Amino acid sequence: MGPQEFGAILQRDKTTYAIVPRTPVGLVTPEILERIAGVVRKHGIPIVKITSGQRLVLVGIKEEEIEPVWKELQLDIGRALELCLHYVQACPGTSVCRYGVQDSLGLGQELENLFYDFALPAKLKIGISGCPMTCAESQVRDIGLVGKKNGWSLYFGGNAGGRPRIGDLLAEDLGREEAIALLRRCLAYYKENAKPRERTARFVERTGIEGLRAALAG
Ligand code: SF4
Repeated sequence: MGPQEFGAILQRDKTTYAIVPRTPVGLVTPEILERIAGVVRKHGIPIVKITSGQRLVLVGIKEEEIEPVWKELQLDIGRALELCLHYVQACPGTSVCRYGVQDSLGLGQELENLFYDFALPAKLKIGISGCPMTCAESQVRDIGLVGKKNGWSLYFGGNAGGRPRIGDLLAEDLGREEAIALLRRCLAYYKENAKPRERTARFVERTGIEGLRAALAG
C-alpha cells in the first residue's frame, strides 16, 4: 500500500507526510490523547496541529513510518484527500453550552457515522451548531444545521474558502430524523447532478438553488 492508501498527504518538503486521525466532532478521550502523545514522542513527529475541522493533524512523518504510526494509533483514517465527507464540526450545544437549544454533538456524531463512507463528487464539510449563534460555522459549510427552539434549520451550499458563499436555507423546524432525511436527499441530488470535483457552493451557483428546492418538493 502506498502513502495515499493510508490517507497520508505529502508535505511541501516533498519528503515527509501528514496524517489526520478520525476524531468525529472533535471529541477525544484521555486514552486517545495519551496514545497520540506516545506515538508522537516515539516517532519524533515534529508538528501536531489542531485543524479548523476539529481534528489533530500529525505532520512530518517519514514514509516508512506511516504504517507503524497508524498501527500504534489504533484510530481510523480521517478523510483528507478522498471525494467524500471529510469532517463534521460541531459546537458543544446542549451537552455543555448554556445557550444550546439542540444536541449538536449528538447529531454531529450520528451524521459522521452515517456518511463516513458515502462517495460524493467532491469533498464535503458539515457544520452543526446548537443555537443561532452558529459557532460551528454552519452557514459556510457545504451542509449546515443550526439548532433553534423548534428544531433544526438546514443550509446547503456554503463555503468559507477563497470564494466564500453563505449556504441557502432549505428548511426550518426539522426534527432530528427529518433533518437527517433531508440532508440525505440533498446529498443524493448533489451526487447525481454535480460535475466531478464540483463543491456544493459552485454547484448551486451553476445550477441554481431552485433546482434543488424543486427536487426536494417533488
Ligand atoms: S452555537 Fe450556540 S450552543 Fe453552540 S457553542 Fe455557540 S453559543 Fe453555544
